[in-house]
This record gives sequence, C-alpha cells and structure tokens, in this order.
Amino acid sequence: MARTHTLGFPRIGAHRELKFAQEAFWRGETPEPALRETGAALRSRHWQLQVDAGLATVAAGDFAWYDQMLGLTALLGALPKRFGLDAASLTLAQYYELARGNAAQPAMEMTKWFDTNYHYIVPELDADSSFEGGPSWFFDEIDEALALGLPTRPVLIGPVTYLWLSKSHAPGFDHLSLLPKVVQAYRRILSQLQSRGIEWVQIDEPVLCLDIETNWLEAVDRAYAGLAESGLKLLLATYFDTAAPHAARIAALPVDGFHIDLVRAPQQLATWLQVLPADAVLSAGVIDGRNIWRSDLRAALATLKPLQAQLGDRLWIAPSCSLLHVPVSLDAEQRLDPELKSWLAFATEKLDELHTLATALNQGEAAVAAQLAASDAARESRRTSRRVVNQQVQKRLAAVTAEMANRASGFESRIEHQREALKLPALPTTTIGSFPQTTAIRQTRASYKRGEIGALEYLQRIRAEIELAVRKQEALGIDVLVHGEAERNDMVEYFGEQLCGYAFTANGWVQSYGSRCVKPPVIFGDVYRPEPMTVDTARYAQSLTNKPMKGMLTGPVTMLQWSFVRDDQPRATTARQLALAIRDEVCDLEAAGIRVIQIDEPALREGLPLRRDDWAAYLDWAVNAFRLSAAGVSDQTQIHTHMCYAEFNDILPAIAAMDADVITIETSRSAMELLEGFGDFDYPNEIGPGVYDIHSPRVPAVEAITRLLERACEVIPPERLWVNPDCGLKTRGWPETEAALANMVTAARQLRGKLASQAPVTWKRVARPAIADLATAHVHGAACDASCGGQPSA
Ligand code: GLN
Ligand code: ZN
Repeated sequence: MARTHTLGFPRIGAHRELKFAQEAFWRGETPEPALRETGAALRSRHWQLQVDAGLATVAAGDFAWYDQMLGLTALLGALPKRFGLDAASLTLAQYYELARGNAAQPAMEMTKWFDTNYHYIVPELDADSSFEGGPSWFFDEIDEALALGLPTRPVLIGPVTYLWLSKSHAPGFDHLSLLPKVVQAYRRILSQLQSRGIEWVQIDEPVLCLDIETNWLEAVDRAYAGLAESGLKLLLATYFDTAAPHAARIAALPVDGFHIDLVRAPQQLATWLQVLPADAVLSAGVIDGRNIWRSDLRAALATLKPLQAQLGDRLWIAPSCSLLHVPVSLDAEQRLDPELKSWLAFATEKLDELHTLATALNQGEAAVAAQLAASDAARESRRTSRRVVNQQVQKRLAAVTAEMANRASGFESRIEHQREALKLPALPTTTIGSFPQTTAIRQTRASYKRGEIGALEYLQRIRAEIELAVRKQEALGIDVLVHGEAERNDMVEYFGEQLCGYAFTANGWVQSYGSRCVKPPVIFGDVYRPEPMTVDTARYAQSLTNKPMKGMLTGPVTMLQWSFVRDDQPRATTARQLALAIRDEVCDLEAAGIRVIQIDEPALREGLPLRRDDWAAYLDWAVNAFRLSAAGVSDQTQIHTHMCYAEFNDILPAIAAMDADVITIETSRSAMELLEGFGDFDYPNEIGPGVYDIHSPRVPAVEAITRLLERACEVIPPERLWVNPDCGLKTRGWPETEAALANMVTAARQLRGKLASQAPVTWKRVARPAIADLATAHVHGAACDASCGGQPSA
C-alpha cells in the first residue's frame, strides 16, 4: 500500500487568522491565552484536513508563532545572549522580541529561506552558545496531536541545515564546532518523542540540495551517526533541488527513509533507486509544493507505478516540499474565472491530489476515474485554451532577434548623447520612485477599488498627489524627478493588473515573514500589453516640470520572480514575453517625451538557482530579458535600473551585462563592501550607491552622506556617480523624507563644489565581460538576504 503524507502545511490559516491574532497580541489587544487558542484551533483544523485526505500520518511541529527556524532556536534553547533571556522559561512575548527587537536590542537577522520568498530568523551562534533546551511548545503541539488520536509525525529542521543557516558575530567562527552540542540536543528531543510512542520523525535537511563542501558532508555523517539508535524511525527530507550528487552518501546514513523533490529535480530518481537501501522508505515528492497548478495526475502515476512495483510499502507519496509556500485553499476564490480556477490547486486541494494518487495505486485507476478525468481536462484545457495561448504573442516571440537586446551604441557613446540631452550637474540627485504612501493615498485607491469614487475623481486625486511630489522635489532641488507612485499598491500587482495573461486571487495569501503575507499574482497565459500602462501618468508628471521626469517600470525578472509562474513553459520564455510587454511601454514612454526610464529589478538576484552549475544559464536569460525590455530606445534616452537587499558582489558581471546606463543600488546592508566590489570590478556604467537607509525614520546628517560619497568617489570615478537613497520611500512619512532629501541634496552640492576645484582624473576602463563568462561568479552564502521585497502590501 502506497502511503501519503505532507512535509508541512501553511500555518497562517485560510483567512490569515494567525496574522490577525499575532498583530492583536503585539498591539496589546489580545492576551496570550487567546493567541494560543487561535494557534491551537488552526493546528487542529489543518490536521483534520490531512486526516480527511486520508494521509497516513499528519505533520506536527511544523507550526510556528513567527518562524520555524526561530521555533527551533527556542526549542534548542540557543537564544542569542544579548537578549538576556532564559530559554527554559521563554514567554511568547519574549519570543516576539527576538523576532522583532525591543527597546534595547535590534531584532535577530532575517533572511530568505533558500530560493523561496519565505523569510526565516537566522540563528545567532558563537563558541559558547548553549543548547540546553527551551520552552516545551514543540512537545505540547505533539501532545496536542496525540491527544486528538492522530497518527502524528513530528517535523524538525535538521542539525546540519540549522548550523549551515546560522550566523556568528565572531569573524571566522567555525559553526561546525558546535555540531556535537547540537546533536546532543537533538538526541534529547528525539528521546522525548520516543517516550511519547512516536514512530516516525521527519528531519529536513534541504542544505543537501546545495553545493556544500566536504567538511559539511562529513558533518552530516557525524550528525546522523549521533542520532542513530534513538528508537525512532527517521525520514530525512531534501527538497528545492536535486540531492543526487550526494545520494550515495546520504543513502548510507543510519536513517529509515528519504524524501526527494521530484518536481524540481525529477532526474534524480534514477540515482536514488540505485543507492536506496533494501529496507528504506522512499518518499516521492511528486506534487508541486512551490506552485499553484493542479497536478497532471497521469504523469505523476506514470512515475509512481513503477516505483510502487519496485518498492511496495516502502513508497510514500508527498508534495515536493512543505505546502507552506502555497495558499491554503481555493474555497474563497469565488470571483476567479471558473476555467482558470479549474487549473489550480492550493494546499488543501493538493492533499486531495495525494489521496487520488494513493487510491489509484492501491485500488486501481477506476476507483478515481472522475478525479483523473478532471485532471486530464484541466491539462487539456490549459494546453489549448485561448486564455493561455495567444498566436500574436507566439509569433512576436519567434521573431525576436539577438540585436533587439542591444542598444544602438555602446555606453561610452550613449552617455555622451545623454549628457548633452539631460544637462545634469555632476553627482546628479534622484530618488528610487515611490514617495510616502499617506493614509489619504491609500484611502483614495481603496475607495476607487470599491467603486465609492469615480474614475475622474480618482484621476484628480492621484494627479494632486503627483503634483505635490513634483513641487516638493523641485523645492528640494533634486535633479531627476519621479512622480511618486501614488497610484501603485504594489510594484508587481500594478503592472500585472494591466497585462493580459495575469490573474489575481482574492485570498491566495502566502506567509512571507512573521505576520506578513503576500498574495502573488498568477501568470497563466501568454503575456502581452493591450495598451500603455504608465504613459499618461508619466506625461502628466513631466508636464509639471522642466526637470527630467523618470518613467518608472518593474522589470521582467522581478515581475516573474514575485508571481506564481506557468509550469507549462520554461521561465525563460515567460520572462521574454514580459520583456516584450515592458519594451513596448519603454518605447511609448520615450515617444511621449520621457527621457529617463527606470526599470526596477530588485528580484534579479533571488532568482538565482541553488546550485552554482545552474547560475550561468539563469543569468544569461534573466539579463537578456532585461536588455530586451530596455534596448528599444535611442541613445539619448537614459535607462536606469534599481536593485536592493541582496548580495550583489557575486553577480557583478551579470549586473554589468544588463547594460543599464545607470544603476541605483542599496548599500546600507553591506556598507562599503558593495561599493568596493563595484570599484574592483570596474563597473563600466553610471552608478548611484544608496546614501541612506530608508528603513528608519532617522534623518541622515549631511556629514554622514558626504563621508559616504567621498568614499564612493575613491572607488568609482566621480563623473559616473549618482546620489540617491537606498530604495523607494513609500514606507516613510513626508517630514523625515523631506529632511533626509534636503541633507542629501546639500551633501551632493558641497561635493560638487569640491570636485570642480580639483583637476579631473582619468579612470581606466575595462572591456565589458561577455555573458558567457558569468559562471565565474563567487558564491557567498546559502540564501540571499532578507529584503523589503517590493515592500508588499499585507
Ligand atoms: N520603484 C520602486 C519604489 O520606489 C522600487 C521598489 C523596490 O526596489 N523594491 O518603491
Ligand atoms: Zn529597492
């Protein structure tokens, strides 16, 4: 009998109950017991869904009050000492201080979980970190499931992944030196589970899908040797990519089963079948835990049938990874087009798919004829639907030439034309796009959406906001203006809503971090732009000023990265369709008299594959999509791009290959390291390193900005430098924004004066690297850093 299970389930609740309960608790409106009750109700509801879907075991311990890694840090008792908290008696309020900071201590760091948009709290460890155990919450949850009489399978993130993802403030600290202590702690946890009569425990080691070095692989051997003979059966789970390169080694570990991701990496199956021990369980992750499409059940059965013949009872069927990364249920999607809805499966529906697969294997396909027919129908209609396939788009895509991704001239010659056309001073000042999104602005958008105000009234109000932003920038003396993005709720949604091939769910929320949820749009069909999206707004904004007004667009890679994407064509193809749509907009902006156009790509770095071998191919198509979107304009038109909150130094050749005339880039996270990277690399085009952090209302002093700019001048030729904040200002208020920008302009002006009195320096220039050389980039860490993302609305 094939058995089914899931590696985890979304914890937020179908209606984001956990979010609202957490936030009420933080505001002091809900006492702790009420928050706990909400958590317990969600857990039991989610377990019931798993029981209803006939899963052989239910996942427990996958719940988290904020984040699963922070939960593990608490369970281990490995709290950073700087908080001065006692792990064993940790309260929920204190746990939230770790996640969110308190008056005395900044929050623990947060960063992206592998290549997902989920953010975890980074463990903060050092040589004398202790792992003596924390509060009993994890065990309480297991007891809760057991008390309900459920076939309970606890879920833990593994010791090696935990250490790999941790950070230390001590330079050069060897995290592996903590392994013996951590393994001891896991032994204690397992023995507590064993005493509860648990049979199987799932231990997640997604780091096994990364390029990890030999010393870490040896640590895996040591860790699991230390966990052997716990009296429990261990299911070692890998996901998000292939674990095949280490399969032989992993298969030799003293554990009882292995989960592999057969959606991201179906090709690893053959390797695993060769090395799988004769008595081990293989959990086949055949349902996509990262995307929202209904599965092709016939294809899954074609994979599973031979496995069942070979493995019998040792075959388990599962989603590829935890269902944490998809929304809870399709139930609330009443307004979604029925055909489109029939193509989708959220977490709850994915449990049903598991059930169908197991029934087909155990009782024969006739027992689930209707479900299989529905799956076939969905597949067939997606393949042929006019909603998906657009001949015009296909034709246009086929006609794209390599030249279309090249500007007419090289940067050296373009910049001369642009300088002549724009007549900007040295060290030109600008901002990244958004200005404070005041309550009034939000209300205007909301009332328009609800139909409370008409289109004319809406337009007038938005135009008033644009005018206000323009007047303020003129008064501040900024050189290249923006319109402020008052009409945009989210930088992807705003464009997605105007593009064909995009759909929006009513309730498709996914946890991003803590109580923050995002509702990624769905790209379901060929993407095209039926009509101009931003041209009227940009033209209006430009009409208010003689200074250049930047057109403001979201780039193709970011549009792709922050959406649920099609699984019926390569991501590269979807990116090219998006690129053509944005290219049309870029050209229309130029025709409307906009001379500077910014195409934001904050998500370029997060699309990087987990394995280095796959980087070059990704960067090749991603960079090409950006170039295709930008290259339709004449030399005089200046193309900007913007990036933030990621590690950039390891992809500098790719960033240079984007060939934007100007890049504005966030620097506060890495301070000068980033600038030095750009300097060492001899970044060939113009660059605006962010001169102040936009996350705090603190107004940066003129001197601080000047210091940063002077240092920037040492590594980047001053004639190629711009002056701007780190990122968009939508989360700030006007008073601090105006004060900060005033100081920024003052600093730029002072430095201009200084530079003018110095003899000009000549700077060596290097040839632009070929895109083919991009694979030589250097890996810094397991995951890129936490970001304000598109500062998504929640
Ligand atoms: N133009 C956008 C803004 O200013 C960029 C946001 C981002 O980088 N995430 O808000
Ligand atoms: Zn940004």
